[in-house]
Amino acid sequence: MLIDTHCHLDVSEFDADRAAVWQSAMQQQVRGLVIPAVNQASVQPILDWCTRHPNTGFALGWHPMYVDQAPQSAMAQLAAQIESVLAGPLAPQLVAIGEIGLDFYVTRANEATQIALFEAQLQLAKHYGLPVLLHVRGAIDTVLKYCRKHRVVGGIAHAFNGSLQQAQVFASLGFKCGFGGACTYTRALKIRALVEQLPLSDIVLETDAPDIPPAWLGHGVRNTPDQLKKIAEEIALIRRMPSTQIIEITGKNSIAVLPKIAHLCT
Ligand SMILES: [Zn+2]
Repeated sequence: MLIDTHCHLDVSEFDADRAAVWQSAMQQQVRGLVIPAVNQASVQPILDWCTRHPNTGFALGWHPMYVDQAPQSAMAQLAAQIESVLAGPLAPQLVAIGEIGLDFYVTRANEATQIALFEAQLQLAKHYGLPVLLHVRGAIDTVLKYCRKHRVVGGIAHAFNGSLQQAQVFASLGFKCGFGGACTYTRALKIRALVEQLPLSDIVLETDAPDIPPAWLGHGVRNTPDQLKKIAEEIALIRRMPSTQIIEITGKNSIAVLPKIAHLCT
C-alpha cells in the first residue's frame, strides 16, 4: 500500500488546489498520508484539514529550523495541544510527534535551543507512547545520541541521507528511513546505493511535498504526493524488484512504525 509518510500538504503552496492535490494522490493509489506540523502556526490549518479528511494523519511538533520562533511556553503549549487532541475526535489521526530533530546544516548558532526542544519533544513522545518523525540534516550522530538517551517507541528518519551504518543504528532503535525524490536523481550515487543496500524492511516512502521534487519534475518545481507511485517505481528499478512488492512492503513498514495509520488508510 502506498503511504506518503511525510507531506507538508498544509503549506501555502497548496492553498489554491489542496483538495485536488489529495484527490490526484488518491487516484495515483496513495492510500495514506501524514502531515507533520513545523511550528505553532501550522497546527490549526492541519487540524482543520484533518477534521474534513478523516483518512489523513498528522503529527504535532516544532521543527528544528523554527526553534528560534518558539516562545518559552512552546513545549507546555505543545503538551496541552497533544493532550487536547488525544481527548477529542482527531485522536485516531494523531499518528506521531513531529517534525522534530536537529538541523546543523543551516546553522549551529542555536544548537543549544535545538537540542533542548528536541529532548523535550522526545520526552513528550515517550510519555504519550507516540513514534516520532525526525528531521536529521547535518546532525545524524547527535540525533542518534538523543534517541539512545530518550527511548521512544520508534519512528522515521525522514529524508534520510546518512551512511548504511547510521541507518542500521536507527533500525536498532526502532526507526525506518524515509526516502523520496532525492533518490530519483541518477547522479545521487550515495543515496541510491543506500536505497539498494538497506534491508527493504527499513525503508518507508515519502514525498516531503512541496519540497524535494523528483528528477522528472526538476529542481524548483512544486512536488506533490501523487508522485509517490513513480518514486516507488524508481526504487523498484534500483533494487531490481517489482514495484508492487516495493509498494506492499514499504506500506507494511509504514504501518509498523506508525501503527495508527493502519486505521486511516483508504
Ligand atoms: Zn518536513
